[in-house]
Amino acid sequence: MHSILDKLKGGLIGSCQAYPNDPLEDTDTIRRISQAVVAAGVSGLRLNSAEHIAAIRQDTDLPIIGIEKCYKDGKLRITPDFAAAKRLAEAGTSIIALDCTARAWTFGDPWRELVGRIHSELHLPVMADTATLDEALAASEAGADMVGTTLNGYTDDTEGNNWFDWDLLRELASRTSTPIVAEGHIGTPAEARRAIAAGAWCVVVGSAITRPGVIATGFVKALKPARGTAAIGVDIGGTAIKAGVVSSLGAVSLTTQVPTEATRGRETIAAGLETAIQQVLTNAAEQQIEIAGIGIASAGAIESRSGSVFAATDNLPGWAGFGLAAFVQKKFSLHTRAVNDAQAAALAELYFGRGRALDSFAAITLGTGLGGGYVCHGKLVEGGCGFAGTFGHQTIHSGGRACNCGRHGCLEAYVSTAALLNEYEQQAGKNALQGLQTAAAARRVSELAKTGDDDALAAYSALADALAEGIANVFNMLDPQAVFLSGGLVEGHGAFVDAVRDHVGKLLHFGAKRRPRIEISTLGYLAGVQGAAARFFEG
Ligand SMILES: [Zn+2]
Repeated sequence: MHSILDKLKGGLIGSCQAYPNDPLEDTDTIRRISQAVVAAGVSGLRLNSAEHIAAIRQDTDLPIIGIEKCYKDGKLRITPDFAAAKRLAEAGTSIIALDCTARAWTFGDPWRELVGRIHSELHLPVMADTATLDEALAASEAGADMVGTTLNGYTDDTEGNNWFDWDLLRELASRTSTPIVAEGHIGTPAEARRAIAAGAWCVVVGSAITRPGVIATGFVKALKPARGTAAIGVDIGGTAIKAGVVSSLGAVSLTTQVPTEATRGRETIAAGLETAIQQVLTNAAEQQIEIAGIGIASAGAIESRSGSVFAATDNLPGWAGFGLAAFVQKKFSLHTRAVNDAQAAALAELYFGRGRALDSFAAITLGTGLGGGYVCHGKLVEGGCGFAGTFGHQTIHSGGRACNCGRHGCLEAYVSTAALLNEYEQQAGKNALQGLQTAAAARRVSELAKTGDDDALAAYSALADALAEGIANVFNMLDPQAVFLSGGLVEGHGAFVDAVRDHVGKLLHFGAKRRPRIEISTLGYLAGVQGAAARFFEG
């Protein structure tokens, strides 16, 4: 019995099945698909029905995991009773797989009883198809010879898991010595290799190899937004919530803006968010524009899958822990995704800006703070908790100025609106900006620099020196093809960016040879809105 399992160790099992009513659901067709898969060098096959197995058994001696899918009352149960198991055995099955989930069934035999009878009467090993850790451990204890993650995502408990559950595999590997079959949602060779490395005995791949309909659907879906879909993009900033309709090509229309009133806390910000989205939805309805979904960019670290706020500073009181995407999705019944605002700027660059042609780049937003996003292999890198690309909190002066993150000497403490005003006042005197609010004061220094005012230029120069240190670090650590700068501090300040680029070139190891590409973003002040919508379009 165990020599069969040994033959599967470390190998790929090709699942050759078709959905009911699929044009491929035909014994001869499945047999030909299996022949092609066997010729590729798989270690085994997973097949549905005694008929398919009997046909394919004529072609190969490889281990076959056999199942019999049974649909009743709209529910699918895999190999529900002993009669089904016996048919599979007689057709030449090597291992019988069956549903060992904790679900209550109105039909078939209890799975524990089935495991026992397959062992004692059919003398074949059993693979337990399960969805959760508890189910897999229970099946292992009950004598299953292999446990599979097959049904994760397909039971009520696990519904919505549209990806392979790596935590489940790791946990299972640490808790049982029963061979684990990684099955379900494994779509790439890299994922298959990772599953073995994470402790799987073998890997079953089906749809990604043997179902042209599923494969084509993925491609069609990926290109669909290019055919005129529109989404709402929302950018929650410190002072204003901006929203608008964004086409799949990045064109923004029907924009609106409401005050954030951040200091009044979560309820108020959420109410403003609702108002902004409702306004855009109303305008879109008037123009008969169909909205496919909503993307939201917000300060704070945002968890990619759930769209919840993992952490946020006191600039947005009560924001941490908020189920942002879920809140909006429930209010408007539109699919909603969320992303950090600086990462949204990087997404806007990736889909609608100069990043389109690049494999890797960093985007840095300069304003009240210094935010960032990093794109690698054409994909936004988000990190474990959503903090990837937080370039503002790298130390450029050990023991330097205090930063609001609690450390000293962070880049953000030297390059921000407040830092610019501070530098300017050191040049022009404490009273030079008297009576002006922060935003107005920053605009004044910006205008003065553009007219060649010495004090304003000196302030910008100090910022350029600090920013160059930070960007040189980014180039040293990540070697991006480009760094794009955006935000009120740099817009219209080509000379400032030239100075930063020159300085980075001097700081950088082999800087003359690498010639760092540092540019002002060509996207405007609605980049956050575009990037938020891009997060939705990504799917
Ligand atoms: Zn910091």
